[in-house]
Amino acid sequence: MITKPKGTLDFLPEDAFKRLHVEEKLRKIAAVFNYREIRTPAFEKTELFRRGIGEETDIVSKEMYSFNDNEFTLKPEMTAPVIRSYIENSLYNISPVQKLYYISNMYRHERPQAGRYREFSQFGAEIIGSGEYTADIELIALGMFFLKEFGIKNLKIKINNIGNLTERSAFLKDLKLYLNDYTQKLSSESARRLFTNPLRILDSKDQKDIEIVKNAPVLYDYLGEENKNHFQNVLGGLKSLDIDYEIDHNLVRGLDYYTSTTFEILSENLGAQNAVLGGGRYDMLVQQLGGKPTPAIGFACGLERLTLVLQANNYIFPEPKSPDLYLITSGEKAKNKALVLAYNLRMKNVYCELDLLGRSIKSQMKEANKLNARYVVVIGEDELSKNSAKIKKMADGSEVETALNDIVNYNFN
Ligand code: ATP
Ligand code: MG
Repeated sequence: MITKPKGTLDFLPEDAFKRLHVEEKLRKIAAVFNYREIRTPAFEKTELFRRGIGEETDIVSKEMYSFNDNEFTLKPEMTAPVIRSYIENSLYNISPVQKLYYISNMYRHERPQAGRYREFSQFGAEIIGSGEYTADIELIALGMFFLKEFGIKNLKIKINNIGNLTERSAFLKDLKLYLNDYTQKLSSESARRLFTNPLRILDSKDQKDIEIVKNAPVLYDYLGEENKNHFQNVLGGLKSLDIDYEIDHNLVRGLDYYTSTTFEILSENLGAQNAVLGGGRYDMLVQQLGGKPTPAIGFACGLERLTLVLQANNYIFPEPKSPDLYLITSGEKAKNKALVLAYNLRMKNVYCELDLLGRSIKSQMKEANKLNARYVVVIGEDELSKNSAKIKKMADGSEVETALNDIVNYNFN
């Protein structure tokens, strides 16, 4: 038997129906906040991610699915593709601020575990063109709003400001000096990162690293007036929206393009993979990818993790609709008549089902019950000769005699 690749998911009809519900709800909320959808290819030139996300990040250094001699890569995240498209299509000419959202599959070659897959989907939003703190507040509020709309409780926002490149490089110099005394004590991963991506040592999950980092220089102390003010304004805005947050000066996030504000929304229902949503400002990315200097901010939310949180919160998903009508037939002639009738009813938006297995009347009746059909009509020799049939309402057993040709006009509501 051929099975699905490791770290991928099948969405059987029941799961697909739930996912569709989640997506529809997200789209409605995005519309209320006036974000418009953007779709980009499933794969991009590898160079886009190398330059956009950064060579030393986990994603680029070990998680990408690349092919055709590494020329192309299945997208591991959407911000770089969105910005590529923004520049390529000169979206700034349409409006100076672009508010975009996406729902799309991502691909990362990770070790699969609960809430961590190799193919997964994200809902994400980006505000491109505004450096105002109000954009940060709106975006975080959007993230918080839809999680609350789903009735999710026990959420925690962690927020930080990681400064601009100048502020960060001054900090990194001191951080490296400090960490140099601990090279033997750091986890092997962090010891390696000391040379490749020292900032990430700050959010190491390793207990030894955490102890060492406790006394390290604090990035916030290296911020200038502008970023400190920006940070305080964002916090003030969140307060005025009654959004609780926790400042975490070690929240640096895994992608190189972040500057200034970074944030994550965590759920206590997710175990080790506790981040349901993550994002931040990336004021340098547009420029870095060949566009004009353009500030921007965005987040991405993993839909599989969102689903796990919904399940843990006992979220009640809507039930799929049951058929309005089940057409039960007996005999070849009736079967053909019902086939046409069903087609005409469906053309009128009546959700109508009929047997495709040549089953007996009794087992068709069973099937109608199983499907929870609201009405049934039996068409057999008798009905054909009288040219009329009884429409039976299953809820109370009441019947209405109707000419066969009038069934199509019956109100099944
Ligand atoms: P993590 O620290 O959990 O690896 P990340 O920093 O790599 O997350 P981002 O790249 O910011 O995550 O992606 C945003 C969101 O996408 C995450 O918060 C999570 O909900 C989801 N996500 C990321 N990687 C995966 C994955 N492999 N499988 C499922 N969801 C994922
Ligand atoms: Mg990751």
